[in-house]
Amino acid sequence: MKPAIELKDVSFAYDIGPPALEHVSLAVGEGEFLGLVGPNGGGKSTLLKLVLGLLRPSSGEVRVAGGTPQESRKVIGYVPQYARFARDFPISVEETVLMGRLGTTPLMGGYRAADREAARLAMAETEVLDLRQRPLGTLSGGQLQRVLVARALACDPRILILDEPTANIDMRGETEIFDLFKALNQRMTLVVVSHDIGFISRYVTRVACLNRTLLCHQPVPIGPEMIEKLYGMPVQLIPHDTTCKTEAKP
Ligand code: ADP
Ligand code: MG
Repeated sequence: MKPAIELKDVSFAYDIGPPALEHVSLAVGEGEFLGLVGPNGGGKSTLLKLVLGLLRPSSGEVRVAGGTPQESRKVIGYVPQYARFARDFPISVEETVLMGRLGTTPLMGGYRAADREAARLAMAETEVLDLRQRPLGTLSGGQLQRVLVARALACDPRILILDEPTANIDMRGETEIFDLFKALNQRMTLVVVSHDIGFISRYVTRVACLNRTLLCHQPVPIGPEMIEKLYGMPVQLIPHDTTCKTEAKP
């Protein structure tokens, strides 16, 4: 399987503080759906920003779709953690989704028909088409998250990266949005950061556990011991599927 994303012995430290990542090696194959889990401050968002080329590793190498992250930026759709908006900022759903075309379309001359069509398709797929005239500030958490996924899809990416996409939505919204991710995985590689190992293990093809170093990305069962190592404290396992899966997709 060709790797869509590859980190080779990557370490990274911000200007201040201890290293955020140390000696992380990870390959995400084309068509995989990787769940990235770990405690707060474990380096998950940092790892995604290295893949996006927003940060550069202190040592080691990051490759995306056979090139550097900068070269491959256009093949990635990204939904950042805590996307914040001024609630009264006067922008509609459609204008927000069109912004996803900015890296694809020439800056001068406004959006073209192809941009509007790509935005329409993305809104249809995420089921926000009937919200397209709505101001962003009037949406529920789940609706807003779908709009942000639509914005990421508008550039027709081969890789979709989502940083805690369900942090502010209820269980029903979470299930719906993961059903959407599962459908998108038919045609693109996905990496999703989540806190809920049990929940995402029902959807993903593999789980990687990150706490400064990569603790597991093999087909090892996640039991209480691994969780304790990962979160630094005993954690009550909720009884759903709690294996750290890596089996191939059917
Ligand atoms: P996670 O997404 O797993 O919660 P992060 O990647 O956000 O973890 O953070 C990893 C570590 O890097 C944390 O200790 C955090 O405090 C630190 N960190 C994150 N962003 C910055 C920054 N811009 N400057 C300095 N330290 C940072
Ligand atoms: Mg984070």
